[in-house]
Amino acid sequence: MTDYDVVVIGAGIGGLYAIERLRGQGLSVLAVESGSGVGGVWHHNRYPGARVDIDSIDYCFHFSRELTRDWRWTERYASQDELLRYLNHVADRFDLRRHILFETTVTAAQWRPDEARYDVETGSGQRFTCRFLLLATGNLSAARKPDFPGLDDFKGDWVQTSHWPDRDVQIAGKRIAVIGTGSSGVQAATALAERAGHLFVFQRTANYSVPAGNVPLDAAVLDAVFAEPNRREALLNSRIGSRLELEGGVLNYADYSEAERLDRLERQWTKGGQGMNRVFADQGLDLAVNTVVADFVRAKIRQTVHDPATAERLCPYDYPIGSRRLIMDTGYYEIFNRPNVTLVDVAADPIERITESGIRLKSGAEHEVDLIVFALGFHAFRGAMERIDIRNEKGEHLTGGWSRGPRALLGLMTTGFPNLFFPTGPGGPSVLSNMVLMNEQQIDFVGELIAHMDARGMRTVQPDRDAQDAWMDEVAAAASKLIRLNVDNYMVHVNSDDGSRVFIPYVGGLDRFNRTCRAVAADGFRGFVFGQALEPTQPSASTEPA
Ligand code: NAP
Repeated sequence: MTDYDVVVIGAGIGGLYAIERLRGQGLSVLAVESGSGVGGVWHHNRYPGARVDIDSIDYCFHFSRELTRDWRWTERYASQDELLRYLNHVADRFDLRRHILFETTVTAAQWRPDEARYDVETGSGQRFTCRFLLLATGNLSAARKPDFPGLDDFKGDWVQTSHWPDRDVQIAGKRIAVIGTGSSGVQAATALAERAGHLFVFQRTANYSVPAGNVPLDAAVLDAVFAEPNRREALLNSRIGSRLELEGGVLNYADYSEAERLDRLERQWTKGGQGMNRVFADQGLDLAVNTVVADFVRAKIRQTVHDPATAERLCPYDYPIGSRRLIMDTGYYEIFNRPNVTLVDVAADPIERITESGIRLKSGAEHEVDLIVFALGFHAFRGAMERIDIRNEKGEHLTGGWSRGPRALLGLMTTGFPNLFFPTGPGGPSVLSNMVLMNEQQIDFVGELIAHMDARGMRTVQPDRDAQDAWMDEVAAAASKLIRLNVDNYMVHVNSDDGSRVFIPYVGGLDRFNRTCRAVAADGFRGFVFGQALEPTQPSASTEPA
């Protein structure tokens, strides 16, 4: 059994930065990664059309000026391929691979209070101990597996966008079904339409999708980014960690003239990107204002899609715009004008089963296909945590006390689980912000917290229950007036007994969140409870996988 200061689970964006940051302060770090390479979601989600939906110049590491100078993003929104190349470059450039154990899955972790360590076990029987366990397992990584009856009978090929296989998937000229029309399904369908013999898009809920506005990035933009002296700070002081998306002051709907309102909507549509969420400051709060934006997008869908019946089925009516994550596309609605693309409305006629040769609907209609692409979403936030048997000294599981929604202090730790960090977790800005910057911000906080403990000979840390409750109240208060709190989606936990709702991410903004974290750290990590060492902590010796 090898001892480490920190075991990191996952070698995606968070895991890579955790190695670099924590190693940099003299800690021994082991990262355990189930995949064959680095990159996390960008390693696994290698489906055709996969692309980030925040500007590349923001959605990247900001801890190294030299890295920012040297990496030249080619497009406004990097493709999966470019992002994966970038993350591999980071792993090589900072010599991170020697700390990573690939193709190894952590199956269990048990807290040992007497030693103030976790015992960590892998699927292949390896065992490690660590003072700190850091879950860099991602919020959207535990995919919903297809459980349609008959899938085993299917004679064709089937894949999941979230785990696109590392083999040749036959696409050209094939009859393909895409099931699911969230961000993944929309991106995949758009790319597959060009190459498929025929593409069937199985839609249950129509979603709002807006143009991404992807363009090649010219050198002047990248040079300007590098020239900015305090870009990282500036992004941390922005609402979502991406200034371009939401730049400029925004007023309430009532503060604009009718001509200005139309102009704002049209300009945002043309510019593309997440800014459609903030054409009017009150569109997430006032349903009437929201409807104006939603109507505008529905009108665009009708203008784009030639067949009126298909256009109408694509128009989202089930929820207000922006109350589920807005999808960024590159010509999605246009594919329905192609003769080789059919929209299948499975809200009206649900999927009954998969047959040997295709997909049969309740009405008896059957669509014969050669390939099924499942884009069914994820068990968000806690799914990846629940795949690992993480137990505290009482034998409780990490998420065992979360039956009424996740409980955490600053999106990072939960009471009862000492020395366990889950950066970008519930109760932090997480999926509503730039996740690369979010990881940096929270892992820096972890580094400072560990340094604080080591300087004082403290062995354990966990949130004070009252501080955690107070933070959860703040998270709830920030979301209380949002329309999206009342819309079912992966960001909302609904209690089955009384229907009460918990909005999982913190919506107060990355800027406010970061200021809170800074104040907490400056105040001796107020709200965290420390356990004193009986004797000075022995630094763990190993620095590389055994
Ligand atoms: P998602 O948004 O949860 O979408 C899942 C889709 O599967 C929905 O359309 C859902 O329909 C459908 N579905 C699930 N079960 C079904 C069933 N039994 N029959 C028919 N349809 C079914 O998942 P996602 O598209 O993977 O996106 C999740 C998140 O990942 C995004 O919100 C985003 O944060 C992130 N992401 C980002 C990008 C990017 O552009 N950077 C790309 C991909 C993903 P219902 O709506 O009716 O449930």
